[in-house]
Amino acid sequence: MLKRALQAFTTALKGLSITFRHFFAARKSRKELDIKQDNYFKKQEGITTIQYPKQEIPIPEVARYQLDVEINDCIVCDLCAKACPVDCISIDAIKATEAIGKTSDGSVKRLYAAKFDIDMAKCMYCGLCTVVCPTECITMTDNYDRSFSNLSELIYQFSEMTAEEIEEKRAELARFQAEKEAAKRKP
Ligand code: SF4
Ligand code: SF4
Repeated sequence: MLKRALQAFTTALKGLSITFRHFFAARKSRKELDIKQDNYFKKQEGITTIQYPKQEIPIPEVARYQLDVEINDCIVCDLCAKACPVDCISIDAIKATEAIGKTSDGSVKRLYAAKFDIDMAKCMYCGLCTVVCPTECITMTDNYDRSFSNLSELIYQFSEMTAEEIEEKRAELARFQAEKEAAKRKP
């Protein structure tokens, strides 16, 4: 009987000592260590959680997060959409009747982006679209914190054309093609 009571007492004491050790260790947070630091794998005491969003863990320089498109530098070549393994990039191009300008790297623009949508809910962050882009206008940003209550809000729309502009450019192209055809038929 006495042996059992002693055993129970030492077990309770051991449990309490562990509780108090963690209780006092929790007065400070663990330090954020860079993986390049020698003591990266050294066991640290302290709280492991952080007070997000007031505190944030630093992210790697080459992390893959939300995509962004600098639409003024896009030549609407569709390469990113073709490279995407999950078809989450949807592009609708309208041919211009002549060159419409240049991108910041000097590429000539001949197509309008009537639609340039990326469904980030489907994206698997492989980064293939950024690799194939000839003007490097589609990039992975360090923005990882975007939450919405509706999945459709994760479809990012990058086209800056209005419905009227799209209609006008389509009509312009149709007129141009009709004139070209008529000119061909002329004896
Ligand atoms: S990162 Fe990958 S999955 Fe996401 S849009 Fe680009 S190619 Fe598609
Ligand atoms: S690959 Fe680059 S330039 Fe081509 S459509 Fe995609 S974002 Fe635009």
